Amino acid sequence: MIEVKRISKRFGQNEVLRDVSLSVADGEVVCLIGPSGSGKSTVLRCINGLESYESGDILIDGQRVDRERGDIHKLRTRVGMVFQRFNLFPHRTVLENVTEGPMFVNKVPREEARAQAVALLEKVGLGQRCDAYPSQLSGGQQQRVAIARSLAMKPEAILFDEPTSALDPELVGEVLAVMRTLAADGMTMIVVTHEMGFAKEVADRVCFLHSGSIVEEGPARQVLSEPQHARTQDFLRRVI
Ligand code: ATP
Ligand code: MG
Repeated sequence: MIEVKRISKRFGQNEVLRDVSLSVADGEVVCLIGPSGSGKSTVLRCINGLESYESGDILIDGQRVDRERGDIHKLRTRVGMVFQRFNLFPHRTVLENVTEGPMFVNKVPREEARAQAVALLEKVGLGQRCDAYPSQLSGGQQQRVAIARSLAMKPEAILFDEPTSALDPELVGEVLAVMRTLAADGMTMIVVTHEMGFAKEVADRVCFLHSGSIVEEGPARQVLSEPQHARTQDFLRRVI
């Protein structure tokens, strides 16, 4: 379970998160939507310990995320993150990209890490491409490798930051399909996305962020089909 309790964050004079609270139960899928600059990525980065914040608390299974303490690396293995840009290691094969974290961070023996990686690559439909290099794959395939790499760390939750925004339109579907499968398998997910169809279909809950505040949240269909707040209505009119 992820609990974000009244966090506030500023970059200099710019207050980018104001009293943001959000809790995500195990197995729940929450989509975070909102205009550019509203703070969506910053929320994910705070949860994952990539960013500090001035006030409030973030708890993962009741344990406080604290950048000052030495446990931030451990935290990153518990909460995975998939970015808009796939960030694969270019000089390593697909298989090596997926085994790297388990072997060197989690100290999983090589053969075990490889067997697990092959199974995960099969799960994302890339069992045949283990020996390819990232540059030999399409963007959609690279993003699916990035998802397999994240899963290889056996995270308790995965945060997705616009995972399909950098893809050509015809490649979006294959990545969303993998995410749909993960959701159906019970993975806890927070997904920043502009794919409203995905949000409506897969998310248990949708949160709308505006200027660093969550101004509306609720069941996906309710927020997306019958938004109550004028800012949500205005945003959805523009993106749909
Ligand atoms: P987008 O949809 O464009 O990705 P976002 O909702 O993810 O936007 P954030 O990236 O979280 O927005 O940014 C929120 C605010 O914080 C913006 O005003 C942005 O300019 C500012 N910001 C983000 N990162 C930094 C940084 N490293 N230094 C200074 N300001 C930052
Ligand atoms: Mg962003």
